[in-house]
Amino acid sequence: MNQVEKVNLLDFDRQGLREFFAQLGEKPYRAEQVMKWMYHHLEDNFENMTDVGKALRTKLEAVCYIGPPKTLFDKGAVDGTHKWLLGMDGGNAVEAVYIPEPTRGTLCVSSQVGCGLNCQFCSTATQGFNRNLATSEIIGQMWVAAKHLGNVTHQNRRITNVVMMGMGEPLLNFDNVVKAMSLMRDDLGFGLASKRVTLSTAGLVPMIDKLSESIDVSLAVSLHAANDELRTELVPLNKRFPIAELMASCQRWIARKPRTSITFEYTLMKGVNDQPEHARQLIKLMRKLPTCKVNLIPFNPFPGTRFERSDMETIRAFQTQLLNANILTMLRRTRGDDIDAACGQLKGQVLDRTRRQAEFRKRLDEGAVHAA
Ligand code: SAH
Repeated sequence: MNQVEKVNLLDFDRQGLREFFAQLGEKPYRAEQVMKWMYHHLEDNFENMTDVGKALRTKLEAVCYIGPPKTLFDKGAVDGTHKWLLGMDGGNAVEAVYIPEPTRGTLCVSSQVGCGLNCQFCSTATQGFNRNLATSEIIGQMWVAAKHLGNVTHQNRRITNVVMMGMGEPLLNFDNVVKAMSLMRDDLGFGLASKRVTLSTAGLVPMIDKLSESIDVSLAVSLHAANDELRTELVPLNKRFPIAELMASCQRWIARKPRTSITFEYTLMKGVNDQPEHARQLIKLMRKLPTCKVNLIPFNPFPGTRFERSDMETIRAFQTQLLNANILTMLRRTRGDDIDAACGQLKGQVLDRTRRQAEFRKRLDEGAVHAA
């Protein structure tokens, strides 16, 4: 077997790893031993797995490897935010961002090379879509960041939270994203509680339902407008899954997970969606989901955008209007914008985008995305 055919163990969740070891004629608990090395000790060299017998280590070396993505570039911002540009394959790269705060450290992870949803105010959209990331490429972002930061699972956690809010629409890469999130949650993986792993979606209704049946994680929904006309303009996916359908799927989510809450992201753009009238519409919508919260994000500009960030005064007034209506409303501080690491500023490096983008749009129009 040559190098090319070797299996990357970062592509397996715990169950998959157990099955792979069974195929090798090994006991499943051996898989768990190796898994602990991979995620608790961030070890990628079988030689150093001292409680794994020499014969098994030699066998593993022959058929598999532990291959996180390569760091092409990494940079820290003045506020402690750190960004990695990670090489995925011939010329493609995605970004992951670490945001330290006094009581937690959040890693923002990408799910696709580029994005095909074309949200008008997002820099990733200008890149087009190239491909879905493999499980190893998703969990690998956390692996690289954890290693860089000296994270030790269950002991010295630098990464306490993960948000699937980097490049791409995670629900369009469903299987790989769910597997990666199960490794984030698994005790033998990074061991994070369900509240600390959040998937953010632009609103793929059927996949929101599927997610609630597949894994226990938190949900964030990118709303940005509370009327269909404006939302369709900003988030074209709204044409396929309008607000009423989206809200109904959120209600089903809450019905299945009564103790959870959903976060609605609302990026504030000057004169576009930041007026008292917009806040009123949002309040009306949120009444249907009394346990949910709103996360206001000041728009982060990028070259070529036609949008501007709302004034601080307008942002505060919008927040106050929601708070006065008893809606839990947070204002997301903009972090890492001196290194273009803020929401919607991630670009990575996306090749060969036009053809795949056209194919993707066609499938979206044909209504086939939820079968992706
Ligand atoms: N595709 C997923 C994951 C992206 S998460 C989703 O849409 O939810 C990134 C969040 O930042 C989303 O809420 C997105 O709408 C928002 N965002 C995108 N561009 C932005 C920008 N330029 N400024 C502020 N927020 C932005």
